[in-house]
Amino acid sequence: MKVRVDLKACKSHGRCYMLAPEVFSEGERGHCLVENPQVPPELKEIARLGADACPEQAIHLEPDPEPGAGSRSGATGRRG
Ligand code: SF4
Repeated sequence: MKVRVDLKACKSHGRCYMLAPEVFSEGERGHCLVENPQVPPELKEIARLGADACPEQAIHLEPDPEPGAGSRSGATGRRG
């Protein structure tokens, strides 16, 4: 899962980093910071908790792509 914060929408309530400090931290002027946008599996639920607590819906969670998806670039890697 990836996490992304829309800093234009963030109003520095601080709920995300108070509830989920493993994923979110306090940045300049109280805005939300994400040190590692790629959330490890063991922190997914915590990231979701922080995102759900944001009253501005400024936190966006993107699921990991399905295994094998997104690798169809047209090139097969085969030669000959
Ligand atoms: S809860 Fe939402 S608005 Fe508040 S700091 Fe976190 S991302 Fe920003």
